[in-house]
Amino acid sequence: MEAGADAATTVAGRVSGHTAVPLVQIRHLSKSYRRGSQRVAVLTDVNLSIASGDFVAMMGPSGSGKTTLLNLIAGIDKPDGGELLVAGRDITRLGETELAGWRARTVGFVFQFYNLMPVLTALENVELPLLLTGLSRSQRRTRAELMLELVGLSDRLEHYPNELSGGQQQRVAIARALVTDPLLIIADEPTGDLDRLSAAEILKLLDRLNLELGKTIAMVTHDPRAAEAAHHLIYLDKGQLTDTSPFTAD
Ligand code: ADP
Ligand code: MG
Repeated sequence: MEAGADAATTVAGRVSGHTAVPLVQIRHLSKSYRRGSQRVAVLTDVNLSIASGDFVAMMGPSGSGKTTLLNLIAGIDKPDGGELLVAGRDITRLGETELAGWRARTVGFVFQFYNLMPVLTALENVELPLLLTGLSRSQRRTRAELMLELVGLSDRLEHYPNELSGGQQQRVAIARALVTDPLLIIADEPTGDLDRLSAAEILKLLDRLNLELGKTIAMVTHDPRAAEAAHHLIYLDKGQLTDTSPFTAD
């Protein structure tokens, strides 16, 4: 009975992301910013669990704190209070240096405007995060080439960002996010600057990373099509979350 139930929840967990091991666990998280002499509350008592292997989309009005929440999960910013565990580790307790190392190993970032280095080629951009690792130059190069192959850009290795379309630049950014083999991909409006066709390609790619490579993805989006690509949808409004999960199977 127990074993059967376990097997069933494991399968369901893989599909819906509900019951698998949580990669991100957030409890009573709060964050405010100081503006002049005032404190402005951005997140108040946020509770959220992201299962390992899940693909979560987060929507909400502009200014509702979506980027702030992603930055907290990624250890870019620190909360005022609450618990924030990633892979069982309370990252609010890490010092700056430890946190930087943790971030480099654990999180891959994809931004709305790609954030590629304009003076570096596609290959050099993807290689960049590996400079912080102990890999040799040829190992770095081989790995970066592999990632660009994965995103379908083997024929653009030596191109500079301004020689690539928006969709291609975003694919380079995804290759860069993946190159360190992070547990978690954080994507902040990854299709926000793209035409419909390029956006669809990026979503297909994110879906593959999730399904085939098992990457856990937390994505903020305004695009209903992007939200549909995810397995799980949450809304953030006035600093609070509502989990609507309209796309889960159960
Ligand atoms: P979203 O991504 O949902 O549009 P943000 O998380 O970027 O929202 O911002 C939420 C609120 O926090 C906004 O009111 C914004 O002005 C404020 N905010 C964000 N970052 C900072 C900061 N570094 N300093 C002060 N206020 C900030
Ligand atoms: Mg934002």
